[in-house]
Amino acid sequence: MTARHLIAPPDPSLHDDRRQLVADLRSDTVTHPTQAMYERMRTAPLGDDGLDGDPTVRELEALVADKLGKQAGLYVPTATMGNLLAVLSQAERQAQVVLESTSHMFTTERGVATLSGLFYLGIPGVAGAMDLDALEQALLPSGSLQTALVCMETTHANAGGAVLPLAHMQAVHDLARSRRACVHLDGARLFNAAVALNVSADEVTRSADTVSLCLSKGLSAPAGAVLAGPQATIERARRLRKMLGGTQRQIGVLAAAGIEAVQTMPHRLVQDHVHARRLSQALNSIHPELLHADMPTTNIVMLDLPATGHDSSIWTHELGKAGVLVRAWGARRLRLVTHRHIDDTRVDAAIAAFRKTADKLLA
Ligand SMILES: *Cc1c(COP(=O)(O)O)cnc(C)c1O
Repeated sequence: MTARHLIAPPDPSLHDDRRQLVADLRSDTVTHPTQAMYERMRTAPLGDDGLDGDPTVRELEALVADKLGKQAGLYVPTATMGNLLAVLSQAERQAQVVLESTSHMFTTERGVATLSGLFYLGIPGVAGAMDLDALEQALLPSGSLQTALVCMETTHANAGGAVLPLAHMQAVHDLARSRRACVHLDGARLFNAAVALNVSADEVTRSADTVSLCLSKGLSAPAGAVLAGPQATIERARRLRKMLGGTQRQIGVLAAAGIEAVQTMPHRLVQDHVHARRLSQALNSIHPELLHADMPTTNIVMLDLPATGHDSSIWTHELGKAGVLVRAWGARRLRLVTHRHIDDTRVDAAIAAFRKTADKLLA
C-alpha cells in the first residue's frame, strides 16, 4: 500500500498542486481502518439492529460496557450523538446541564440546548478541569433551575489533550452526587487518558454514570461511537436514539471494525503520545523566543504563534504547501494531532517542513 492510501487525501488545492503529503496532523479522525478491521467487517454476522438486533453490534456494546465498567452499551453513529443521548436520557426539559466552558460539549455541541429545552451552564476551568468552587455554587438549589447533569471531558480536546486527574474527577462526582445530579464523561479519547495515566479504562470511568467513547479517532475505526452506562439509562437512550433516526440496520458491518478497534488499538496509543512529545520538543527548538508549543501528555500539540503579522491561516497555508496539514485553532494557535499514520519518519519530515516554513515566515 502506498502512503497515499494510509493517509486521508490532502485538501483539494494541494491535490491540484500534486504536492507530496508529508503528514496529515489535522486530527486523529483521519486514520483509516486496518486490514484486520476490513477482514472483520467482511465476515461479521449481521442482523437488523432496528428489529431484533444485530449480533455484531450487540457484541461491541457488551465489549465496551465491560471495558468501561458499565452495565450496558449503545452503539451510535457519532460521539456527538452519544453525548446528546447521555444528556437527553439523564435530564428532563428545563433542567440545567453543567459543563467546563471550553469542553467540546459546550463549545461545539451546545446548540442542542436550543432543541432540548435544557440550559447549558459553562464553568471556568484550568487544563480542562472545572473550578470546584464554581461547580459547588452552580449546584446550589436555585429558584428556577435544577442541575440534572454534570459533564466532564478526558482527554480534553481544547486543553491540548489534557488528562483530568482522577482525584478531580472523583471530586466532581462527589459534588454532583451530593446534589442528586448525574455525571457524564465525554470520553471521545478515553483510551488516550487511560494510557497516559497508566490505568485501565474503567478506573477513569469510575466517577461517571455514563461515558461516550469515539471509535473513529485514534482507535482508527471508520465511524461510530458507544455510549455506556446503567441499564435503565441505556434503555432510555436506545428509545431516544430511535427517535433521532440514529438506529441503523445491518450496522454490524461497521461495528465489526469497532470491536477490532477496542480490542487492538488502545495499547498502541502510547506511540502517538511519544511522537507528540517529540514533535513539541522539536518545534520549541526552532525559534525558542517566538514559537511555543505545550508539552503534551497525550497526542495533541498546541503551538502558539508569535505576533508577526502572520496569523494561523497563513501558517496553515504555508505548511500545507510544504505537505504538512494542521488546523488553525484561533488566530494565533495551531493544533497538531499525532495518530497511527504518523510514524517516526513522518514526525521527522513534519519537523523539517516546520523549520523551512518558520525560516520563511519569521525571517
Ligand atoms: C471528536 C469529539 C467529539 C465528537 O465526536 P464525533 O464522533 O466526531 O461526533 C466529542 N467530544 C470530544 C472531546 C471530541 O474530541
